[in-house]
Amino acid sequence: MALIVQKYGGTSVANPERIRNVARRVARYKAMGHQVVVVVSAMSGETNKLIGLAKELMAEPDPRELDMIISTGEQVTIGLTALALIELGIKAKSYTGAQVKILTDNAYTKARILNIDQHNLKVDLDAGYVCVVAGFQGEDENGNITTLGRGGSDTTGVALAAALGADECQIYTDVDGVYTTDPRVVPEARRLKSITFEEMLELASQGSKVLQIRSVEFAGKYKVKLRVLSSFEEEGDGTLITFEEEDNMEQPIISGIAFNRDEAKITVLGVPDKPGIAYQILGPIADANIDVDMIIQNTGADGTTDFTFTVHKNEMNKALNILRDKVQGHIGAREISGDDKIAKVSVVGVGMRSHVGIASQMFRTLAEEGINIQMISTSEIKIAVVVDEKYLELAVRVLHKAFELEAA
Ligand code: ADP
Ligand code: ASP
Ligand code: MG
Repeated sequence: MALIVQKYGGTSVANPERIRNVARRVARYKAMGHQVVVVVSAMSGETNKLIGLAKELMAEPDPRELDMIISTGEQVTIGLTALALIELGIKAKSYTGAQVKILTDNAYTKARILNIDQHNLKVDLDAGYVCVVAGFQGEDENGNITTLGRGGSDTTGVALAAALGADECQIYTDVDGVYTTDPRVVPEARRLKSITFEEMLELASQGSKVLQIRSVEFAGKYKVKLRVLSSFEEEGDGTLITFEEEDNMEQPIISGIAFNRDEAKITVLGVPDKPGIAYQILGPIADANIDVDMIIQNTGADGTTDFTFTVHKNEMNKALNILRDKVQGHIGAREISGDDKIAKVSVVGVGMRSHVGIASQMFRTLAEEGINIQMISTSEIKIAVVVDEKYLELAVRVLHKAFELEAA
């Protein structure tokens, strides 16, 4: 007997028939003698719909109230999934995040899980129940409902698997595993039988939405056996996230290409070049809990510096307001501007460590298509570039081809 956590995403619970399918799969695992915890997302489109409703009443919704609203999508699907299981004769019980006691910090809309009380679930699992837990939500120490960021049900699944010491966490979605890039953009993309944890972490952090980055972080920290699978297919091994460094001879240089349309670029022009400038610009941004991704600073011949960084698109206006109200006058910047028509494309692979020339191959490929690179950032296993968003799909396609990632 094993303890298995199965997470089903929005398309997998998009209507009653699909929920019935989920229940049938869970029933098969129960019939094999396993204990099963099911984590579900809201029906696909539901979270977006709820955000839209909130925005009709307030352009930048109050975050506490927004979480109150957007956490409801998952409350519907846990109840429906439990009903489908009970109809099949299986003992099942639904749980909100608060009922489990998924404790988070109070960073509404992007809260982090601090602790999970596994007592209630254990008691019910031992009594033969399937526990159906709402993804994406938790509560802070004062009982306020919080949510974990878009795609956060993955994190609920993996965090529960870690807390319960589950034998495996299965992420069921609408593709049958992790591909060399998003198969919706490049139909020739190839499914990977396995991918190293490090590469998956990098792909997720660079925008591959197949797994939310925090779920991959949890899997790494607690060594959760994690697999991505299709909920629409009966068979298939999906993609396993591995922790062992595979035989390096076998390692491809590049494993995948990620992209992200959710970032915006902020440029602070003409800042006198003095110690402390980066801190004076980014300090207030960090104090407002706005995450910064890429950063570049360039000093010109006139002794002033241009400072550019990227934030989530949703936070661009907030960041611009902070800079214009609190920072611009103070540091004497000439101009502050924002651009949300950008996209980031990243090539990722652990094999890059031992190969030179990947960056130049990437830049040459983009140059041949006339795609201008606005920003570059690198790590040991990644090269990321920011380009005009209108070139995103072209960039991903030509890089996928240049690095020979297509199906054989
Ligand atoms: P769910 O609702 O099940 O959580 P998501 O839409 O969040 O599903 O994630 C699955 C989607 O991720 C796929 O439909 C695919 O378009 C996208 N995706 C992005 N990059 C990849 C990749 N490298 N491999 C597979 N899917 C990817
Ligand atoms: N329903 C949430 C979202 O759409 C969480 C999830 O699906 O993982 O982001
Ligand atoms: Mg998802």
